[in-house]
Amino acid sequence: MTNPLYDGLFGIHAAKQTPFLRLADGSVLTHQAFLEQAAQFAHVAGQLGLKPGDRMAVQVEKSPQSLALYAACAQAGLIFLPLNTAYTVDELTYFIENSGASLIVCDSAKQAALAPIATGLGAKLETLDADGSGSLTQKAEGLLKTYETVARSGDDLAAFLYTSGTTGRSKGAMLTQDNLLSNARTLVDFWRFSEQDVLLHALPIFHTHGLFVATNVTLAAGGSLIFLPKFDLDKVIEELPNATTMMGVPTFYTRILGDGRFSRDRVQHMRLFISGSAPLLSETHVQFEDRTGHRILERYGMTETNMNTSNPYEGERRAGTVGFPLPGIDLKITDPDTGNTLPDGEIGQIEVRGPNVFKGYWQMPDKTAAELRQDGFFITGDLGKIDEDGYVHIVGRNKDLIISGGYNIYPKEIELVLDEQLGVLESAVIGVPHPDFGETVLGVIVPEPGQKPDLEAIMGAIKPSLARFKHPRKLVILDDLPRNTMGKVQKNQLRDRFKDMFA
Ligand code: ATP
Ligand code: MG
Repeated sequence: MTNPLYDGLFGIHAAKQTPFLRLADGSVLTHQAFLEQAAQFAHVAGQLGLKPGDRMAVQVEKSPQSLALYAACAQAGLIFLPLNTAYTVDELTYFIENSGASLIVCDSAKQAALAPIATGLGAKLETLDADGSGSLTQKAEGLLKTYETVARSGDDLAAFLYTSGTTGRSKGAMLTQDNLLSNARTLVDFWRFSEQDVLLHALPIFHTHGLFVATNVTLAAGGSLIFLPKFDLDKVIEELPNATTMMGVPTFYTRILGDGRFSRDRVQHMRLFISGSAPLLSETHVQFEDRTGHRILERYGMTETNMNTSNPYEGERRAGTVGFPLPGIDLKITDPDTGNTLPDGEIGQIEVRGPNVFKGYWQMPDKTAAELRQDGFFITGDLGKIDEDGYVHIVGRNKDLIISGGYNIYPKEIELVLDEQLGVLESAVIGVPHPDFGETVLGVIVPEPGQKPDLEAIMGAIKPSLARFKHPRKLVILDDLPRNTMGKVQKNQLRDRFKDMFA
């Protein structure tokens, strides 16, 4: 009887007294203790009537217990469905209904609001709080600490992971055991993870970055996690000397860089810093290297595929690029109209194929058919190009492309020029409705702290670098760009806010 995901990530650590989770209070959870908790949760799920293939929807704070639910699902052949802790009850209702979950695990604060919904859907409802207490842990207490792993094949579903909803309503990506396991193994090799590694983990575990990339890689390598409940700057600075690697979203790195305590000494010993989920500004890349001597390794992935490309471990980590396709993954740039592959250097849609690519969107056959080609290529929705050295560059999302007077305008190109200007920290370029051109270009600028950029001067300065049709019609200043928890700029919100500017 085998279960590739459980055996490959968790089972290999059975009965090991080695550290797995190093917690914020200084305590350590061994692999064995973690797996015992998972086995008990698997028993609880069984007692609640869940059968292999059923969904367990989980919206709880990050804790060792909430991570153990992932292992429990793998062991019992259940489909793990983690949900963003920011979702309101209304939003949750959609996900719970949409996924057909048989068990909902929530924070006790949401129990009363979710109870009627669970009843209406015939789902069980249990609680798990940030401190690990709740009805679920109560039910688990005293149960057997071993569980007979349910047989699964690599093609069976392991998780439904909802996308971040940056471009529209979140979609449930159906991920198989092999999707997750193949990517974890590829990344262990590519990033040279070993059991010596201690990964500083301050990411949420409802998103692929913190859940699958960071956790699966560490599990597959046999290392440990410094498992922080959230990104707390003081705690991160304090723990860096105890880590060998860190994975973060770009905002983690900008925040660390903004702290005077963050010095070369503190991270001299570290092996690797990895960034993803949103573009890392070239400036952050350069500043980080100046300050620490380390080059951040940027990689590119998404909910539907786990990781697709990475800058090299050895060799040049090139700022502004996401590196090369990972071993075993094909990547091509295609013409959005014809689907034909474009020559290197040309911008088109990024398509990927490999053992990492998901099975489709849950209950969205039309969307699945439109984005997942017969030959296995997935149309990612991102636009990019491959440069002369083979590095992949992302220029933005297809949905953020601006079409003005019939011309295609890639926001990133303009953002890069704006970011260079005096007093500008960062920028976001969007298309807004315009009576003559359909859409026109609006540049949103965030000033460097204490600066008041001269918009007229900036407009004058950028014009020589950009063809006339790309010139922003207007520049506006905002204190911050709207971002979600993964540091992704929410251009939808910006478009909405400025939609009447020229109407
Ligand atoms: P939705 O699909 O619901 O609109 P989303 O695409 O933001 O939301 P995720 O799957 O969390 O949901 O994010 C994947 C996306 O994040 C990628 O398609 C890409 O646009 C972006 N991304 C990830 N890593 C990078 C990176 N290193 N540089 C630039 N963009 C990145
Ligand atoms: Mg997406």
